[in-house]
Amino acid sequence: MKDTELYQHLLGLQSPWFVARVELDTKARRVSVYAEHRKDATFKCPECSSACPLHDHDEERSWRHLDSCQFETHLRARIPRVRCDEHGVRQARVPWSEPKSRFTLMFERFAIDVLRETDVQGATELVRISWDQAHHIMQRAVERGLARREHVDVKHMGVDEKAIAKGHRYATLLNDLQRGTVLEVTEGRTQQSIEKCLASVPSAQLAQVEAFAMDMWQPYFQVVSSAVPDGASKVVFDRFHIVGHMNKALDIVRRRECREMVEDGDRRLVGTKYDWLYAAERLDDDVRQQFVRMRDAGFKTARAWSMKELLRGLWDRKSMRDALTWWSRWYFWATHSRLTPGIKVAKMIDRHLSNVLSYFTHRITNAASESINAVVRGLQKRAFGYRSFSNFRIAVLFRCGGLDLYPAT
Ligand SMILES: [Zn+2]
Repeated sequence: MKDTELYQHLLGLQSPWFVARVELDTKARRVSVYAEHRKDATFKCPECSSACPLHDHDEERSWRHLDSCQFETHLRARIPRVRCDEHGVRQARVPWSEPKSRFTLMFERFAIDVLRETDVQGATELVRISWDQAHHIMQRAVERGLARREHVDVKHMGVDEKAIAKGHRYATLLNDLQRGTVLEVTEGRTQQSIEKCLASVPSAQLAQVEAFAMDMWQPYFQVVSSAVPDGASKVVFDRFHIVGHMNKALDIVRRRECREMVEDGDRRLVGTKYDWLYAAERLDDDVRQQFVRMRDAGFKTARAWSMKELLRGLWDRKSMRDALTWWSRWYFWATHSRLTPGIKVAKMIDRHLSNVLSYFTHRITNAASESINAVVRGLQKRAFGYRSFSNFRIAVLFRCGGLDLYPAT
């Protein structure tokens, strides 16, 4: 088999295209494959797809292709221009690449696979492309995927905020909780951030969403309430976020009590911050026993800890009715605890109770998107490598969007 025939097969070139010649540069470790077309070939107008006569050719261009035995391989050709009666002189499409891409379709598919498995830095080394090229491939892949994502039938959505860099930079993520995918990412955590997220979903589909999990964050709640039919009743405040508030209250109580005790020379609470915040079942038996003894001895921190641990049980109730009964008992006890930070949180939950107990209708939580969190955390570490927010958005959608990223072949 001649080398031209071999590359014809490897590239999958079909009539009227053929490989005219192959040049090997052993010093540069590079193979150049020259493609030409039959002289009598006609091409389609890229606008209307009607067959048109050949007008002329553009300058020779090259497309990076998959390596041949670790030799960088480039396909070279002059793209034909056609003369369409309706659209004038236009550049025809070539079968091995998308318009304006500098890679063959096969190379682009391969690069997408590598980028999915590793980070941008790793891909630039493995595939030997620049950071900009890698990012451009990701961007085109995401645009392709978003254009194809027509009928997403999402039952449960999660609205999540993420700190994306040191300081106070945030992103708002709109997630499909069932599929564990990210639907959209916008900058900030304001009303506008969530509005932009929701605008990426066709309104008919938005109306079909049954429930939205989110933090007790007023801008999110307001926008969902007004942008979605019956939105207010569809909101489920995330249980882990609620327990997070209780954990903060517990820590305030601990710090105050610790300071008072240290003044009296008692250092028992020093350095215990994280023990109290752990879920009880994750504590060692003797630590737990010690906490119980401290509670019985009247330590405020230990009482706040009990309050928090009990609160976690709210979501284990069997029905909304059980939960409501359970809540009134816990609420009575918590509001009579004389632990001001805990009382504040109890009252806050009580003000939003219907959107807390809506959990028993929909049984959703933002924690379903833990895989998304892991990916976002990985990106956060490299946040300084992301020159702009839009790059961060592309990276998240590329990895977590569940999109069909490949170019059509
Ligand atoms: Zn045309």
